[in-house]
Amino acid sequence: MILHKIDFHTHCFPDSLAPRALKSLGDCSGLIPETDGTADGLLKSMDSGGVDISVVLGIATNARQQKSVNDFAAKLNENERLVGFGSVYPDAPDALCELERIKALGLKGVKFHPEYQEFYADDEKMRPIYRKISELGLITVFHAGADYGFPAPYHCKPEHLKNALKMLDTNVVAAHWGGLALHEEVLDTLCGLPLYFDTSFAYGSTCLPMIRKIAEKHGADKILFGTDSPWHTPEKESRVIEFLGLDTEEKEKIFYKNAAKLLDI
Ligand SMILES: [Zn+2]
Repeated sequence: MILHKIDFHTHCFPDSLAPRALKSLGDCSGLIPETDGTADGLLKSMDSGGVDISVVLGIATNARQQKSVNDFAAKLNENERLVGFGSVYPDAPDALCELERIKALGLKGVKFHPEYQEFYADDEKMRPIYRKISELGLITVFHAGADYGFPAPYHCKPEHLKNALKMLDTNVVAAHWGGLALHEEVLDTLCGLPLYFDTSFAYGSTCLPMIRKIAEKHGADKILFGTDSPWHTPEKESRVIEFLGLDTEEKEKIFYKNAAKLLDI
């Protein structure tokens, strides 16, 4: 496959759950989805937005959901254009076993959402989970910064992530340019550290001159294109990258080269 764009931050749901999932997420965030929330809907939006491959991020919002979320991610991987990541619920008694199952299913990474999963990214209780993830070599994506569905205090601010990094020995990705709506703190606290930022959910919701400063300070080698589909489109999020005034080589790294290397594609 000749690559042009890899989207490192998307969501979709099993067909039977998609309508209900989008309605409840839309109702709590005030956002209008841009796809129908299914894998087919995601693939259609990838086609119209020039995206070759998407990383699909699921979240277990309780202990009981872990297995079904991870089985769904494994099923998505049957399509060569989709890369499903797994999820564990930090308080689940079998979280460590489920991480091993995630690895055995062939999933390449996990996503945490500290707001939905009710933990601080640098909580001591995460240490055994982070150790297991590091042993297994799973890529670890954090929702970072504010979330439209939750009030402050936020559970994954730049300071929390900086501390969490000390407990993790694997590739870490902080979504939303390191921290949605917290970009001054990202600039001071996270830029330059050994982690990736994804570019998702920036169009129309963040101060682009600030994003440009973050891109300059952090460097194109550690930035991954992402949209947050179904909430934002590849067209809109690509526009943000074009705005940054980068050269062709830097843009290629962000749009697909860094992700291809990380995912071993
Ligand atoms: Zn997202």
